[in-house]
Amino acid sequence: MIDFANANLNTCNIQYIKGVGEKRARLFNKLGIYSVRDLITFYPRKYQDWSKNVSVLDAPEGEVVAVKATMITPVKEALIRKGMTLYKCNFSDGQNVIHVTLFNNKYLAQSLRTYDDYILYGKVEKSFTSASMTSPQIEKLETAGGVHPIYPATDKLNSRAIAKVIKTALDAIPEIEDTLTEDIRKRYHLCSLDFATREIHFPTKAENIEIARRRLIFEELLTLQLGLLKLKDKKETENKLKINADCTEEFCALLPFELTGAQRRAIGECVADMMSPQAMNRLIQGDVGSGKTAVAAAVMYSTVKSGYQCAMMAPTEILANQHYASLTQLFEGTNVRTALLTGATKAKEKREIKAALMEGEIDIIIGTHALIQNDVEFRELALVVTDEQHRFGVEQRATLAMKGTNPHLMVMSATPIPRTLGLIIYGDLDISILDELPPGRQEIRTDVVTSAYHDRIYTFIKKAIDAGNQAYIVCSLVDEGESDLISAKEYAEELQTKVFQHYNLGLLHGKMKAKEKDAVMSAFARGEVQVLVSTTVVEVGVDVPNATIMLIENAERFGLSALHQLRGRVGRGKDKSYCILVSDSKSDSARERLQVMKSTNNGFKIADYDLKTRGPGDFFGKRQHGLPNLIIADMLGDMETLKECQQCAEEMLSEDIRLDKYPALCDNINEMFRKTDY
Ligand code: ADP
Ligand code: MG
Repeated sequence: MIDFANANLNTCNIQYIKGVGEKRARLFNKLGIYSVRDLITFYPRKYQDWSKNVSVLDAPEGEVVAVKATMITPVKEALIRKGMTLYKCNFSDGQNVIHVTLFNNKYLAQSLRTYDDYILYGKVEKSFTSASMTSPQIEKLETAGGVHPIYPATDKLNSRAIAKVIKTALDAIPEIEDTLTEDIRKRYHLCSLDFATREIHFPTKAENIEIARRRLIFEELLTLQLGLLKLKDKKETENKLKINADCTEEFCALLPFELTGAQRRAIGECVADMMSPQAMNRLIQGDVGSGKTAVAAAVMYSTVKSGYQCAMMAPTEILANQHYASLTQLFEGTNVRTALLTGATKAKEKREIKAALMEGEIDIIIGTHALIQNDVEFRELALVVTDEQHRFGVEQRATLAMKGTNPHLMVMSATPIPRTLGLIIYGDLDISILDELPPGRQEIRTDVVTSAYHDRIYTFIKKAIDAGNQAYIVCSLVDEGESDLISAKEYAEELQTKVFQHYNLGLLHGKMKAKEKDAVMSAFARGEVQVLVSTTVVEVGVDVPNATIMLIENAERFGLSALHQLRGRVGRGKDKSYCILVSDSKSDSARERLQVMKSTNNGFKIADYDLKTRGPGDFFGKRQHGLPNLIIADMLGDMETLKECQQCAEEMLSEDIRLDKYPALCDNINEMFRKTDY
């Protein structure tokens, strides 16, 4: 045995807990449990209340209940067939007999003793003359206890076994040191950490579960928030790359249009950041088409005018190509020198570009994110812009910060996130929001139809192509093995041979290599491919102004935010554009969601609706955010607590920036962020 009184719970291995050992420890490892801290923060998924027991007469049909009963006949065993033994015995609740049947549970059957009192937990089936329970859980009355925790179990480790080990551990460790001061606990109505930890596992009263949950959710969100704020603090490095003039007015003369108010505001905020004593860490968030590229271009222009270099990174080669083309055109006739560096750049050219960058002969380099990971060196890199940031993880931002002399960071994202969440996900960044579209944008017409309309839609698409336009057809994921859904590949073949025989179709799906994708996308951008059949990979901000139709199959399968991103691929040119959502779903909620798409073109409104009705899956399911995994808190479900935590974190840091007063909390912050390798 180990001395738990002095052990560090974060590092103490669970194999030393009585009854665990090396072999069982491995079973726990499968559940992600290594340390004693992992174990005691492995919270129950739900509870069974065994304390409120009912008589057979009162037991509601079909509901799981606890019945207090005495065993009145010994167990009878019957072998039904090989490998299937039945155990039958009778209990009485004082008024009625309950026939109990157990399958194959020899261990339990042999432990039962006639005339002993038990709690039977399960469903009661009633007939005219008798009551019965099939495979109930059975515990001796004395040890049955009240509220039972139910843990997510595995084949070899059931909930009861987990509960037992957690109980042993909680009994062995001394009072858990509180991470928060009494003052904070009072202010935010929080119970002690020790109480919360013990009661969440083994509640002495059912009411205590909520009290414990509140504290633990608060604890987790606060740890996350403090960690992010500290991360931001760490990044708040001295600005050694101050720009010395705001050249936005000069830049405006290069543009073929007037900047929107929102663009001006965002540019102003960036320029102010870059002139301030601290380096810039800013997120530019704006709906598709809000003109983020122009914002980046303006800020890069001022940076170059101060004699520095800029790098702009895009998630795909095709997007990098596009940015390169539009920036080169924009800066034509000025002395701003641009270059493109991607995987496709020829070796010799690459060498020349790298040399030129080092010499300072290139002002703005555009490329994929490989740009910052390679051996690319700059003479004086002052600003790094990353486009479509939600494709990059937080880690890559950290890599960036290490590059060169702590350049200013500007990240651009079209994923609309409600502000409170933005503060968490991008807690280490300042945010500018582009909440205004350039004037004169025509609304994209959106229609929701059933697949019965396919022939009409195809005719409509052909007409558009004949008039010189192009179309996207998006269908569900390829090779998912879901037979009711048409995979992109099969669908494309069918369309080519049966519908669009006289047109060029291209296929784009997630399993293709980046090079292949870029080739298809470029052919589409050049107009050689007229219909692009694809999975959602087109969502990234590629600009094909000539494309006017976005057809989405099985539209109910997509999150609204994803649909909105897809829709943003059309309506980028002068021609009227259409988005057609095909769905045969009969579900009311699916139909209602698709109607939301029809009713608005505002990405923030759509995101709000999506979050309210679909939950956080879209934003948090894919771990695109790069945040630590939360154990108990659900950031959206616990929005109120999240707000309180944000306030609390700011109060704590304003009093004690290094959190010296909270050593245990600091430990936990490090632990939470260690697991995600920042
Ligand atoms: P996103 O924010 O989706 O990246 P882009 O930067 O690609 O948007 O801009 C979309 C289109 O709008 C581009 O063709 C761009 O030239 C144009 N644009 C940007 N700002 C303005 C503006 N203020 N007035 C008119 N057109 C603009
Ligand atoms: Mg863009």
